[in-house]
Amino acid sequence: MILLISDLHLQEERPDISRAFVDLLEGRARHAKALYILGDFFEAWIGDDAMSPFQQSICQALRQLSDAGTAIYLMHGNRDFLLGQDFCKAAGATLLDDPCVVELGGEPVLLMHGDTLCTRDLGYMKLRRYLRNPLSLWILRHLPLSTRQKLARKLRSESQSQSRMKNTEIVDVTPEQVPLVMAAHGVRTLVHGHTHRPAIHKLVVDGQPARRIVLGDWDRRGWALQVDEQGFQLAPFDFN
Ligand code: MN
Repeated sequence: MILLISDLHLQEERPDISRAFVDLLEGRARHAKALYILGDFFEAWIGDDAMSPFQQSICQALRQLSDAGTAIYLMHGNRDFLLGQDFCKAAGATLLDDPCVVELGGEPVLLMHGDTLCTRDLGYMKLRRYLRNPLSLWILRHLPLSTRQKLARKLRSESQSQSRMKNTEIVDVTPEQVPLVMAAHGVRTLVHGHTHRPAIHKLVVDGQPARRIVLGDWDRRGWALQVDEQGFQLAPFDFN
């Protein structure tokens, strides 16, 4: 059995979500061969060298799961793209490229965070190109801690005020983009998060039936995609 989750937006201010996540790690995830976390795992991440005690406790909880034999795979989201190899090493996790294709349930499956599918959000796509090129990443990682903290606060307040103003359609995926990306990777199944619109969408790719599985964000409840002999099952669950 394999589990896929995303968009937990873990933060100290939401101990209910962190508790639900640790419950998952100590419960269902123990029986999983692998746990995939497809981005926006943390609400914010300014560098592996600036881990708060809260973030360290999450790292430790992941470590316990990987020590118990579950493989952990992490993908960057738009909020935690500075998560680096130091964190992954400490957590016993493997960082995945976005996008990447993995074998799940006997078929190749394309995994993405999902933000790159939202191509109509021109302002965000521009910001993403600017922030995520190797030179910017290098500079960001080497800025003094206080500067990174200030920058993170600024980005966060800007993205909050912008998403309030934007038409909700803009921040969903561009429908025409999906079959193109799937065909380019030769897959019939895509799993992504980011949009906070959990669903399984049927579509046609290269004349073949295909599906786009959107993971849910964790807020009032959690979401997980379980892949086992029964197939791909996306379901919410209540926090204890
Ligand atoms: Mn996101």
